Amino acid sequence: SKKSLKGFFRRNLFVLFTVASVVLGVILGFALRPHNLSMREIKYFSFPGELLMRMLKMLVLPLIVSSLVTGISSLDRRASGKMGLRAVVYYMVTTLIAVFIGIVIVMIIRPGKGSRDSPAVKSGNIESIQATDAFLDLIRNMFPPNLVEACFIQVNMFHFLPVSATFCAMQKYSLPFHNFTCGFILEETVPVSGSSAGVNALGLVVFSMCFGLVIGNMKEQGHALKEFFDCLNEAIMRLVAVIIWYAPVGILFLIAGKIVEMKDLAEVGGQLGMYTVSVIVGLLIHGLFVLPLLYFLVTRRNPYSFIGGLLQALITALGTSSSSATLPITFRCLEENNHVDKRVTRFVLPVGATINMDGTALYEAVAAIFIAQVNDMDLNFGQILTISITATAASIGAAGIPQAGLVTMVIVLTSVGLPTEDITLIIAVDWFLDRLRTTTNVLGDSLGAGIVEYLSREELQNQDADLRNSVIEE
Ligand code: ASP
Repeated sequence: SKKSLKGFFRRNLFVLFTVASVVLGVILGFALRPHNLSMREIKYFSFPGELLMRMLKMLVLPLIVSSLVTGISSLDRRASGKMGLRAVVYYMVTTLIAVFIGIVIVMIIRPGKGSRDSPAVKSGNIESIQATDAFLDLIRNMFPPNLVEACFIQVNMFHFLPVSATFCAMQKYSLPFHNFTCGFILEETVPVSGSSAGVNALGLVVFSMCFGLVIGNMKEQGHALKEFFDCLNEAIMRLVAVIIWYAPVGILFLIAGKIVEMKDLAEVGGQLGMYTVSVIVGLLIHGLFVLPLLYFLVTRRNPYSFIGGLLQALITALGTSSSSATLPITFRCLEENNHVDKRVTRFVLPVGATINMDGTALYEAVAAIFIAQVNDMDLNFGQILTISITATAASIGAAGIPQAGLVTMVIVLTSVGLPTEDITLIIAVDWFLDRLRTTTNVLGDSLGAGIVEYLSREELQNQDADLRNSVIEE
């Protein structure tokens, strides 16, 4: 009991630290705002936060690969097949529900009604983007031709298209959007590396899953490789345990830095303000009611105590606006606080962080319909259906990095013939909405792991029994 007391204390200490870091970050940020710091000063000030981002990202690649390979190779083929199917069904169902909520909210609030507040930045000649290209690009990313390269370069959707090249470059150099003419500045594509660089997570997920399956089937022969990835995974998780102590400091500075940097809130009025409210209401309904209800209906357990165990991951998502960077913390929270079986987390979390983005899907649907309203365009049922489907696809295609959803928005807009340059209308508030939707994304992945574990308890128990029998036989 001494041990459990210690565990309890430690857990709550973390939670306390993390919550305090957010509060302090907000206070510090607002206290510094009147000083009008220059961009350079803000960069220096946010440095501890930047370090946290770098540390988390550093772990993402080995974590994704090692956890998927060990997770899948340690399950028998039938168990992993069933578990995978359950996860995919959960991802699809929840993403579609999120889109539906978004559509209903934006239709009720109608943030874009009335004459438009501000003109969009006029575009140059934007190359027309076909939805087919986007889908092909999504599939293309699943099969990286060069695995080593996939570890370094963020292969994003549309990375070959000028319009997204512009977005990416803006992100990379932190340039304000208004100075640019969409799709005009950069005539050639820029590889999306540098500050937002992660990995081609989708490609690595696909490869690691296949690799894990093959190793699992090799039995004795694959033993050495399996041990290797087991060890690697354990070692990375130990590193996470160290970094987690630094996380509150990093989060404090990430949040404070962003608050110092942000534009005056008073500017965000009118249509943009109502749009922001629509997204927030949608995310709150989905994250606080719908997902917990689903969890409760399936498991009959208290969803909010499960969410309590995730607090640190949720706050990290809020601070970093990246579900990939949050992944190490999500692992820790689920395994240490909520005691979710490692065989489940290793398998479903990396996949979830890469393709399951409820918050992003909801936001894409709201944003597209908002832009339609601003343009006085009445959408018929078919078009709304198209938006639901493309918003789902765009959320799957978005990488788990800051503001990736803004880039994949293009797919949704073009699918119903809305002007892509109107993305400029929503860019001012995107950094903020990005944080909230990332938090929803992480919440969805985590509750999904809990649900999949519950549904797979029989297979997991069978496997435990098999393992015990084989040890006794030996
Ligand atoms: N930032 C989000 C994430 O990492 C993706 C998005 O831009 O919607 O989950």
